[in-house]
Amino acid sequence: MSKSSTSESSDAFTLYDLRVEVVGGEKNMVCNHKVGDFFELSGENLTLPPGQSFPIYPLAALLPLLPAKQRKTHDNDWMTTDTDIACPDPHCGAIFRIRRTGERTFHHGEVTVVPLPPKDADRKGQR
Ligand SMILES: [Zn+2]
Repeated sequence: MSKSSTSESSDAFTLYDLRVEVVGGEKNMVCNHKVGDFFELSGENLTLPPGQSFPIYPLAALLPLLPAKQRKTHDNDWMTTDTDIACPDPHCGAIFRIRRTGERTFHHGEVTVVPLPPKDADRKGQR
């Protein structure tokens, strides 16, 4: 059985798990983050290592990009190739590197109450 026919019979989809890590930039860092600090994102859940904090200003700059980086993107899309985000503080040299660390399967029915639209075959059968 082909992979596509399996996925058509399921409400499964995949997202990438992400790890966002502070890497050194050319300038000194002035915010409360240091090289090696990181957080991870799996589905909608963000986690930090025990005892580590993460400042809200760079988090605010990163948040709009993360849902796109969680999803499969075209090979030619800059969202696929570009991984480094600068700290929004113009005096801070930090770079935040976003890496896709794995794929995780989710099920539509477990993450939303909005129903999936009927499949083409189902719609034809209703007419
Ligand atoms: Zn910074």
